[in-house]
Amino acid sequence: MPPVSDQNVGDLLAENAELRRLLRKHQWGGLTPIKSNGACPECAGSKPPEGRGHRPGCAVAAVLAET
Ligand SMILES: [Zn+2]
Repeated sequence: MPPVSDQNVGDLLAENAELRRLLRKHQWGGLTPIKSNGACPECAGSKPPEGRGHRPGCAVAAVLAET
């Protein structure tokens, strides 16, 4: 494998930020009952503050929690 250049790292960081942005935007985009605000497609937790948010162990919540 070739060494990772600064250019590659920059590209990966930019891609990572974009994926996070999309994930954050769509994290409540799962199918929901009528009147519901939104639900996580991964854990089916409902969108706060009305809902209780992601369930413990939700992979989407875990990714978004990383800094
Ligand atoms: Zn979730």
